[in-house]
This record gives sequence, C-alpha cells and structure tokens, in this order.
Amino acid sequence: MSLKPISDIGEFGLIERIAGIAEPTLEAVPGIAEGIGDDCAVYALSPSKVQVATTDLLVEHVHFDLLTTPLQHLGSKAISVNISDICAMNASPRYALVSIALPSKSSVTFVETLYNGMSEAARLYKTALAGGDTSMSLNGTVISVTVTGEAVKEHLTLRKGAQPGDLVCVTGSLGGAAAGLKVLTREKGIMVEHLRHGESYERDILSNLKEYDEAIRQQLLPAARIDIIEFFHKHNIIPTSMIDISDGLAPDLLHICRRSEVGAIIEEGKLPILPQARHIADEFQEDAVNYALSGGEDYQLLFTLKSDQADLIAPHRDITVIGRITPADEGMLLQDIYGMTIDLETIEGFDHFTGKE
Ligand code: ADP
Ligand code: MG
Repeated sequence: MSLKPISDIGEFGLIERIAGIAEPTLEAVPGIAEGIGDDCAVYALSPSKVQVATTDLLVEHVHFDLLTTPLQHLGSKAISVNISDICAMNASPRYALVSIALPSKSSVTFVETLYNGMSEAARLYKTALAGGDTSMSLNGTVISVTVTGEAVKEHLTLRKGAQPGDLVCVTGSLGGAAAGLKVLTREKGIMVEHLRHGESYERDILSNLKEYDEAIRQQLLPAARIDIIEFFHKHNIIPTSMIDISDGLAPDLLHICRRSEVGAIIEEGKLPILPQARHIADEFQEDAVNYALSGGEDYQLLFTLKSDQADLIAPHRDITVIGRITPADEGMLLQDIYGMTIDLETIEGFDHFTGKE
C-alpha cells in the first residue's frame, strides 16, 4: 500500500484518482450524462429535461471560524455555494438535503439560527429544504448540503463547450471574498489577544468593520447568481461553457480550458475588481488582482459566449467581457495594461491539502 500523503497530489489530484475508481459505475445507469468533473452531475430525466445535483461541505476551522462568522450568515452561505453550482449549469434549483454533525454541547439556538439562515436563502432561491441527516461530532461543526436542480436540455451548460473566438465573461466583482477574509483573520487575531488578556471585546465584528463591509459581505454572505440565470433564460442566451468561481478566476478558467481543450487570453485592465478589495490589498501591501485570480469564494459566474451574442449581454451592467478563448496551443494568458503577458496556468487556487495558494 502506498503511503504517499494526499498533500503530495493535492485536492485535484485526489479527485482525479477518485474519478478513475468511480468511472465504471456510471455505465450501469444509462441516464447519467455527466459524472465527476463538472459543477454538477447530470442525469437525463426525459428527452427534453435533465436533472442536476451537487454537494458541498463546510467544515469548522477549515471553511469557517465561528468567532468571525455570524451563524445566520453561515447557514445562508451553505445554501448559496450549492445553488451557485446549480447556476453554473444554467439550471434552476429544486430541493436541498442538509446534513449536520454537531458537538453535543452546541445549543438548540445555535442550530435554529443556522437553519433560519438556510431557510432565508432557500426561500430567496425558491428551493425547498426537504431533508437531511443529523449526527454528533467529536470535533467541530460540519455542514453538508446537497442541492438538485432541473434544466431544459438545450439550456444545460457544461465546463466543456468553449471554442476559439468566444468571449470570456464574468459576473459581478472579484477579489472581495479574499479581501474580506484578510480583514476578518486580522480582526480575529486582535479579538483573541484581547480575550487572552482578560479584556472585553465588542463581539459584533461586522459593525466594528463598517469600512470593509462590502468585502466582508462577499466573504460571509455570498449570493448565488440566480438573477443571471433568469436573465439568460429571458433573453435566450446560452453560454458555450460556464463554471462558478469558487477557487479563483485562474484555476476555474483553467477548468473550462482543460475540459473544452482551448486556451484563453484575459485582459488584466478589464477585470472587475471590487474597489474595496483594492483598498484592503493596499493596506496589506498585496495586489488585489491576486485576490481575484487565486483567492476564490467570489461565487460569480465565469462563462463563454459566441461573439455574435455580445449585443445580448451588453445592456447588463453586471456582466463584464474580460477576454477571449484562443486555440489550446496558445495557453492561458493574462495580459497587463502594457501588453505584457503572464501564464495563468501557473497560478493555483487554494488547496486545503497542500495549503498552497
Ligand atoms: P466545485 O468547486 O464546483 O464544487 P469541486 O472542485 O468540489 O467542484 O469538485 C470537482 C468535481 O469533482 C465535481 O464534479 C465533484 O462532484 C467531484 N468530486 C469532488 N469530490 C468528490 C468525491 N469525494 N467523490 C466523488 N466526486 C467528487
Ligand atoms: Mg463549482
């Protein structure tokens, strides 16, 4: 038996190995159109409709810190990050199954507040909280959410499908979630110091940090872009490929490029960086572009579109064209405002196993 640690191959390496083992099971079910490798698994319900399904884990101390995370926000985020994967398929959510593992000392109010957040988000996304499972945990809180959705077959949008000449588009602004996490982590350090010295600390971390509110909101309370999916459906826009940005623009664009077997060129000057992320990056003497490229958790949609559909998205103020798809042999490049290019494939998102960004 190999004793190679997971950190040697990282999260993506591990998923590739899992996929290799799981692949043969897909053949047993004729309706499975997509297995491991996209934002959702896809199952053909009928000749015209598909069902999509996704699941995401939130683990205490890994994905969230209860010192800096209001519980209601955490509940909402657990739902939103899954709905974001449903949106990334150009599909509409239907129902959610929620499993939680809790230390036995957790209070009933803790769980109710968490579920109030989930329920508020579910209502917003017209999704039913329809079941789940509950267990005791010996070490921290774990939340696992699974969401199903549906799409008309012609609307279904995969990571595969981008072609040279297509526009690369992104919704909303980028870098906010990573910038918000920077501020929250700094604030937690201050909080812990105060508590260690027996001093009191105003626990309402959000009202303490008003000047960083937009970035912190992006981190704690991301919104899945179901509004964009509704816009697509209303205007008959079908992207050629799509993914949601959970790991960072660079690694998520790389997923599109790898699965579509294409390259891309992105213009740095066109990246819609959240202005507050720039201020925070200045404060930390960092570059907000890096927050956008590799910080992750912005939960915006990254998609490609036939260039003759540019007019259809032009009126939307929250969609930005940031580049173009190129042939695979041209690689994945970022061009700065002086025309210099850097290789985006070398920029990795955060990997929990390697601890590398
Ligand atoms: P996302 O960031 O969109 O949630 P992930 O990077 O978590 O996607 O997962 C990538 C792909 O790998 C998805 O298709 C997902 O279903 C699959 N996957 C991830 N972890 C596992 C696992 N433990 N077993 C089977 N499939 C997995
Ligand atoms: Mg995703």
